[in-house]
Amino acid sequence: MAKVELKGISKVYEGNVRAVDDANIVVEDKEFVVFVGPSGCGKSTTLRMVAGLEDITEGELLIDGERMNDTPPKDRNIAMVFQNYALYPHMTVYDNMAFGLRIKKVEKAEIDRRVHEAARILDIEKFLDRKPKALSGGQRQRVAVGRAIVRNPKVFLFDEPLSNLDAKLRVQMRAEISGLHHRLNATMIYVTHDQVEAMTMASKIVVMKDGKVQQIGAPLDLYAYPINKFVAGFIGSPPMNFLAVKVSESGGSIVLDEGSFTIKPDASHVPDLKKYVGKEVFFGIRPEDLAYTQSPQPNSFPVKITVVEPLGADVHLWLNTPTQSLVARTEPIYRFKIDETINLIPKLEKARYFDKETELSILPNKGALSK
Ligand code: ADP
Repeated sequence: MAKVELKGISKVYEGNVRAVDDANIVVEDKEFVVFVGPSGCGKSTTLRMVAGLEDITEGELLIDGERMNDTPPKDRNIAMVFQNYALYPHMTVYDNMAFGLRIKKVEKAEIDRRVHEAARILDIEKFLDRKPKALSGGQRQRVAVGRAIVRNPKVFLFDEPLSNLDAKLRVQMRAEISGLHHRLNATMIYVTHDQVEAMTMASKIVVMKDGKVQQIGAPLDLYAYPINKFVAGFIGSPPMNFLAVKVSESGGSIVLDEGSFTIKPDASHVPDLKKYVGKEVFFGIRPEDLAYTQSPQPNSFPVKITVVEPLGADVHLWLNTPTQSLVARTEPIYRFKIDETINLIPKLEKARYFDKETELSILPNKGALSK
């Protein structure tokens, strides 16, 4: 059992820098939780408070219900894997992995068993006699993970462990860490600025911005029902488009006016949009929810192509209305040309709407696709 609870946790650095503000997060036993957000949002500080590497200014940290605020890192039964691996350069891989256990006076035979077991899981048995400098980045990262595994911790913490690896290796290690989670059946907390890592690895994502938790949920719930414009734009690539549109009522129906075109929203969204008649809102639509159509159709709108990015399976089109920009992701069913005007049909049931002032979603948060 290893449940981690952050209750109203804040971190205030010298000079009154509030790096983390009132974080309330529950990491259930065996969950893989990813803290994600742009650089400086406070995700590493949050992780370091869980590890005990930073003092907690306000709030309570519980592990399996026990208060940990004043427990030294070594007694928290937690193992952390760092971005820079933090291996001892003068020690072999074997000794790097064994070091922590020797300090804890674990029996030699038991150390040997655990190191070989971890090395086998990570496929680094043949490197056990090498020093870190004779290893590639990916191999070093495996040793760092191995050092965490041998300690048999209650909770694994990862701080941007893949950001020093090249793109291909990152994808491979991502899958390996997911596989490891499955295999070890352990509680893991993973910090990254990369929303793709968050989406692909997490059972639960915590999105942070400016020291504040924005939304917590399963990857596809956050994708489908982002709580605000920030989360909507942060999760997904290319990001969701936001077009400023004016909400008006015409002949009893709600119409969205972009300036160069009007569309009628999905019937299910009308009750919430009615409150905004006469005001502007952000019409949020994901690139994959904009379909190309050769000829204009009801609710299609014209856009001019500025950039064409063929990716093979699909095409990213960068587009302009007379006053706003957007991106569409569509099948390469047509040879798109720069400066050409095409028509797009939005999947209006997938559209999301955000208040222009508060940037909060104006639709009820249906969430919980997974429930
Ligand atoms: P992230 O991991 O999301 O990139 P951090 O948790 O490292 O962000 O930092 C959050 C904020 O706290 C940043 O604004 C950073 O400059 C500030 N910060 C981090 N460490 C310190 C420190 N030791 N003293 C003062 N401010 C710090």
